[in-house]
Amino acid sequence: MTDERLDLWIAYFVNLRNVLKLSEWRIILEDKLPDNPDCGAAVQTLYGRRVASVRLCYGWDDLGPERQRLYATHELLHLYFTPIQSVMDRAKECFGDQAELAASYHMEQMEYAIDGLAEAIAPLLPLPEDTE
Ligand SMILES: [Zn+2]
Repeated sequence: MTDERLDLWIAYFVNLRNVLKLSEWRIILEDKLPDNPDCGAAVQTLYGRRVASVRLCYGWDDLGPERQRLYATHELLHLYFTPIQSVMDRAKECFGDQAELAASYHMEQMEYAIDGLAEAIAPLLPLPEDTE
């Protein structure tokens, strides 16, 4: 993705971040693909910092504005769940295999929750202005 396109998308993510009342988070847009090729986008947070690193899928520019908005909303909503995820990460550190299954189930349920919230909230948020 060109620097110009990255600048456009970071501006869009920052705008959505502010609308979603997540302005304490710094958003970084990485020029890398998500580890999972099935994901439209992915977000990672840095331990102990309110910094979120976002990656966009191959072909992001061609997804269309509604899907881009939905995926962007989904990734940003993950930030509300970061503290809860940290608890599960700690449990895995403390209890190892015993917590692994619970952590896996927790992650799956969290994705369902975030996906449902994103579907409900995204239509209320601004679309990307320029996706050409
Ligand atoms: Zn997700």
